[in-house]
Amino acid sequence: MDIGPRDADRWLIRHGSRYGLCQTYSNELWHFELATTPGGTCPPMS
Ligand SMILES: [Zn+2]
Repeated sequence: MDIGPRDADRWLIRHGSRYGLCQTYSNELWHFELATTPGGTCPPMS
């Protein structure tokens, strides 16, 4: 998913993995996907 406000993507970069949400593309700072289990570790970005 793509998220809107800049503050929201900063928040998700820090806290998204709590919910399994990871930034998945290094060139799309605003793009997050369910990529791990809640509390898990995000896979490397592509
Ligand atoms: Zn996207």
